[in-house]
Order: sequence, then C-alpha cells, then structure tokens
Amino acid sequence: MIPEIDRIRTLLTAAGCAWTRPRAQVLAVLTAVAHPLRVEEIHRRLGDPRINLSSVYRALHLFHRLNVVRRLLLGDGAARYELAEAYRGHHHHLVCDACGRIEDVSRCPLEGRDLGAALGAAAAFAVRSHSLELFGL
Ligand SMILES: [Zn+2]
Ligand SMILES: [Zn+2]
Repeated sequence: MIPEIDRIRTLLTAAGCAWTRPRAQVLAVLTAVAHPLRVEEIHRRLGDPRINLSSVYRALHLFHRLNVVRRLLLGDGAARYELAEAYRGHHHHLVCDACGRIEDVSRCPLEGRDLGAALGAAAAFAVRSHSLELFGL
C-alpha cells in the first residue's frame, strides 16, 4: 500500500470512520493524479459503477473535515480537490486561462522569506502557511 494511504487509513480509523470502498478508491485516485480534480473527474476516474457521485461527495466532505484533502477554488466556480500538504507536499499551481489545464509545481518562490514583514503585516502576525496560484496562458 502507498504510505500516504496507509497514514490516512490510520487517521480515519482513529477518528472512528470506517474504511469503505468509496473512501479507499477516492484516495487512490487523489494519490495517483498530480493535479487537483473536480468531483466529477474523480468519479469518472474511479470507473466503478457501484460507486455513485454522491458517495464521492460524501467521501471528499469527510476527508476535507479531517484535513486529508485540500479544496481549491480557482475562479471558475468549480471546487477541486487534492491531497493536503501533509500528504502531497508543499507546491503551487499553474492554471491556463485558455484551456483550464492545471499543473502542480513543487518549487516555491516564497520559501524562506519573511512574508509577514514583506507585506507589512503587524509584527505580532506569524505567517503559518500560504497558497499561490498563477494564472496565465
Ligand atoms: Zn496541487
Ligand atoms: Zn510556497
């Protein structure tokens, strides 16, 4: 089993949640694909007629609540999901305005910078995390 899935399975069990087929398969898709996916795309990739779209929604809702997945809104009104940073690693997104294609990039231009100070935040504000999506062609 992929180590991330093993960790998530342990987390789910500790939270009193069953390891069901939809949950396992949604995680398998999110582990295999290196860019965020819409719910319908995840469902399509499952290719399992026994799992309906609402099961995928429910699985994602639970994963989001447990901080296993991250929900991304990229301006087109559709929520997309990917594994949370703890499992997927820190990265950013390149979004093509023309075709909507999304690419993950693992280099971070902000790493090691004092972002709070750079943006003029109050000294008491400690930056904990950041996200950055770049739009272009
Ligand atoms: Zn991503
Ligand atoms: Zn970054």
